[in-house]
This record gives sequence, structure tokens and C-alpha cells, in this order.
Amino acid sequence: MKNKIVAGNWKMNKTFPEAEELLVAIAEGLDDMELETDVIICPPYPYLEMAADVSEESNFTVGAQNVSYAEKGAYTGEVSAAMLKSAGVDTCIVGHSERRAYFKETDEELAKKVDLLLANDLVPIFCVGETLEEREKGTHWDKIGNQLKNSLFHLNKEDISKVIVAYEPVWAIGTGKTATPQQAQEVHAFIRRKLEEKYGTETAYNIYILYGGSCNPKNALELFSCPDVDGGLIGGASLNAEDFIAIVNAAETCTKND
Ligand code: PEP
Repeated sequence: MKNKIVAGNWKMNKTFPEAEELLVAIAEGLDDMELETDVIICPPYPYLEMAADVSEESNFTVGAQNVSYAEKGAYTGEVSAAMLKSAGVDTCIVGHSERRAYFKETDEELAKKVDLLLANDLVPIFCVGETLEEREKGTHWDKIGNQLKNSLFHLNKEDISKVIVAYEPVWAIGTGKTATPQQAQEVHAFIRRKLEEKYGTETAYNIYILYGGSCNPKNALELFSCPDVDGGLIGGASLNAEDFIAIVNAAETCTKND
């Protein structure tokens, strides 16, 4: 039996004092729980160190939302994997659909980011997912299969075992339109099968596959109860401590019922 992972992606939200307030509220909420779930908070870069400080006395770890594909040097505005590690960060989202769409991140760049994160002992949360158009055309299987193949499948067994995959259908992100548990399970099982074909059953079983896309306190339990859904990557609902804690509670309930 695996425990669940719940990761909050704050995106580009909250001022410094608002971030501090939210971190403290989440820490307080988690402190009241006997947690089996791994909770990860991914705030914007300027708040990472503060989040790492708060996390020392709490039950969560800290993730970044992005990292440079370059190791170091003349890349104005970029932040390297080594910098993240030295600021107390453990995890980093890679290939979120917003970054793929607005910042034109390519599969090749994402593969470099994954490599640098792993080389610096950071866990990548690698996002895959299709647009509505791709789902309607039925090309989503190829899309997701290629995203996995092009950015992850150069890794050896040891390294892929450290990666967390997040299935985030683009049509469900921030839209209030959640994938049904059946739709989520179907794609998660597909991802697991692809991992299994490449790396074998045991490795594939042990890799976490999170669901992301309008997950909220009302639908989290049903989604997390799907056999191949190992938790969630939460956007909007992670900006409210009560909602986020309720989602963590749903993950706890799943683990306890398992
Ligand atoms: C996300 O962007 O990672 C996400 C899942 O967003 P939301 O929960 O707001 O749909």
C-alpha cells in the first residue's frame, strides 16, 4: 500500500505577507493531523526560503514551480537546480502546461531540466496532459506517450524511480471542469502501462502518478480512490488553507481505507 502525495501549486499568486499567512495556516492545519500523506507546497521563487523555514517545524516539504535548463552562468532571470537545492527545496514541477504553452518549453528542454534536478538530488514532478482538441480528436494517447518518451525515457531505472508524474489535462486546469474519475483512471493506467513497458512492473508500480485539474475538496476523495491515482497536484484550491487541508484529508482517508 502506498501513501498519497498532495502537492499545492500556487502559480503566480500571493504577495509576501499573504504567502506567509497561507504558509502558517497550512502548517497549523497539518500540525493537527497524524499525517501519512506527503504534502508539498510549491510557492513562487521569492517565497521558497520562507516556506522552507516554516516547513522545518511542520509536516510539509517545499517544491519550486520551475527550474532553468542550464546549469549556471549568464542566463539572466533564471534559477538553477543547485540554487533551489541550497534554498531548502526538495521538489520541482517540470513541464506544467502553462509553461509549455506560454513559454514554449520543448520536450528537449524539459529532459534537460529533469536531468539537472536529479543531478542535484531534487525530485521532478513531471506534468503531462492533452488539450481539449487533442482529446476530441483522440490523439491524447499519442500526445501523453510522446511527452513521457521524449523527456523521461532516457532515464535509467534508478532515476525514473525518483520522478513523480502528474497527469494534468489542459482542459481541466483552472476551468472548474474536472476529469471524471473514470477519465483520470484510464489515463493514469495508460501512463503506468507505458512506464511498465519501459521499466518493468515493480518500478512502474512504485512511481507516483498524481492527478491535477480543478481538484477540490468535493471531488478529491473520489479521484484519489482510483487505483492508479496516487494523489493530486492542486492549483486554485491550494491557495486556501481550509480547502487544501480538506484535500489532504481526502488523501488520508483513501490511505486509511486502502
Ligand atoms: C495546476 O495548474 O497544476 C492545477 C492543477 O490547477 P487547478 O487545480 O487550478 O486546475
